[in-house]
Amino acid sequence: MTTVISVTNQKGGVGKTTTAVNLAYFLAKSGKSTLLVDFDPQGNASSGLGIDKQALQQTMSEVIMGRTTLDQVVVGTEYQNLWVAPTTPQLANTEVELAQAEQRFARLRLALESLSIEYDFIIIDSPPSLSLLTVNGLIAAQYVLLPVQAEFYALEGLGQLLETMKLVRRASNPTLELLGVLPTMVDSRTTLSSQVVAEIHKHFPGKVFNSVIPRNIRLAEAPSHGLPIGVYDRFSKGSRAYKSLAKEVMERVQ
Ligand code: ATP
Ligand code: MG
Repeated sequence: MTTVISVTNQKGGVGKTTTAVNLAYFLAKSGKSTLLVDFDPQGNASSGLGIDKQALQQTMSEVIMGRTTLDQVVVGTEYQNLWVAPTTPQLANTEVELAQAEQRFARLRLALESLSIEYDFIIIDSPPSLSLLTVNGLIAAQYVLLPVQAEFYALEGLGQLLETMKLVRRASNPTLELLGVLPTMVDSRTTLSSQVVAEIHKHFPGKVFNSVIPRNIRLAEAPSHGLPIGVYDRFSKGSRAYKSLAKEVMERVQ
């Protein structure tokens, strides 16, 4: 049984990609075969794992338009149990093309169903919008992992995401579930941060992960080296936090 988790929040820069990359890494490190699907035209998840996007012949764009299979674009990483389905900025054009296509909302789901290898986990990194691509992610997933940045406007706009999830449930994916809410970039020294974390708990009772991701410069540095935090600096606070998140995720999906 594969567990498919979409890391989603239409707000930009809240830590979706950082979470997708490092969660995928630590799941793989725990022995779970894991596929990270980069589904954001920015392609940050691909570069965060050191994938050279220039060298790629085919990416998620071709998969989504049915020009190749997902199996064909999956590439291995330097890490055991961890694979990536990479993306380039071309995916932005593909999204326009996709808007006219048949079954345009289900393309990612169909692609995942066509995989010949059964992964334990598939982690989808979504773009910062409630676009066609994001909806494809929600339709393909069993769970949503929602990173929320510990800042003043953090909860604004989340109602819209929950509404979209409701529509997706009604239309085609009745079992879609919120796996958990993850406070990110938390600065425990500021009262604002702790107030926002308290707000998040109030808004999503019982749904907030115990793991909290601190604001940590090592997490911000790691992608420029193309490394997950567990490799770049495994003793950093950020690394410990994502390791603990992976453990919690494995417990929650059981
Ligand atoms: P986008 O919406 O553009 O896809 P995102 O939600 O994927 O953004 P990230 O790219 O993960 O967000 O993070 C935004 C920026 O903040 C990046 O430069 C990243 O390195 C940095 N960052 C993420 N998490 C942390 C953290 N816990 N501490 C410090 N910096 C962080
Ligand atoms: Mg991102």
